[in-house]
Amino acid sequence: MLFAGVDIGSTTTKCAIIDENKKKLVFVKMDTEFDRNASGEKIFQKALDTIQASEKDVTCIVATGYGRKSFRRTDLDIPEIIAHAVGTEFLMPGTKTIIDIGGQDSKVIQLDETGNINRFEMNDKCAAGTGRFFEVLTHRLLGIDMSELSDLIKKSKEPCTISSMCTIFAESEIISYLSQGIPIADIAAGTGVSIARRIIAMGRTGRVDFAEPIVFSGGVAQNEGITQLFEELLAKKVTAIDSPQSTAAVGAALRALKQYNKRVGS
Ligand code: ADP
Repeated sequence: MLFAGVDIGSTTTKCAIIDENKKKLVFVKMDTEFDRNASGEKIFQKALDTIQASEKDVTCIVATGYGRKSFRRTDLDIPEIIAHAVGTEFLMPGTKTIIDIGGQDSKVIQLDETGNINRFEMNDKCAAGTGRFFEVLTHRLLGIDMSELSDLIKKSKEPCTISSMCTIFAESEIISYLSQGIPIADIAAGTGVSIARRIIAMGRTGRVDFAEPIVFSGGVAQNEGITQLFEELLAKKVTAIDSPQSTAAVGAALRALKQYNKRVGS
């Protein structure tokens, strides 16, 4: 028996499949396409193909993420915050704080002793503090490849100050730094500091106390430089989870198993 979690995010779509013993069998991802339902179908099929399974082997599918309501095949859909909490607590038991930075949103979630959500704060209204802010300011404006970004941030001795909270105004600030001959590494690190500061402030607004263990997830958690910036700013240990884009899909797959157990009364 197989259980699938499909996370249709603003930027990437992911699928995790587990068995009845909660063993993760596969995790796959792709860029989200305009048609959210088609993205869900494609990633589900890709996951099945990877483990050479058929859709008949899948007992229950749970969807999550921004596009979850568009995925017609799903048995149930759950909010991302819940999917992240369930997935992260399973992958890293005992987590107290989750920082998740995705393509177009960021979240800070506080968990209690039993892994339940205590508090959370989310930004999905503005690009600042999200992966998109990074993409626009470093990749598109400075021409930095996302894979080089982390090393550049780590190289910076003096991150510049990006004071603008708005992506458009931050872009003007960066253009001005470039014309002053400020090294690209300092501009990239300044962008990272701006994102990390904004997310910490957002969490504090929601009275999240950033208790340890702190786990960092989402696409931006692939960037070691940003993990280090969070550690410096919080003066606490921050652990980027392995396969950081998988947590919500894993959480959704676990919910699919729970849903089945509820149905059969076990
Ligand atoms: P979502 O679930 O919202 O679709 P993801 O969690 O998959 O988003 O994250 C996608 C984001 O991660 C994109 O904005 C992408 O630019 C960003 N990203 C990917 N790799 C890196 C990296 N090495 N450094 C910083 N950001 C990155």
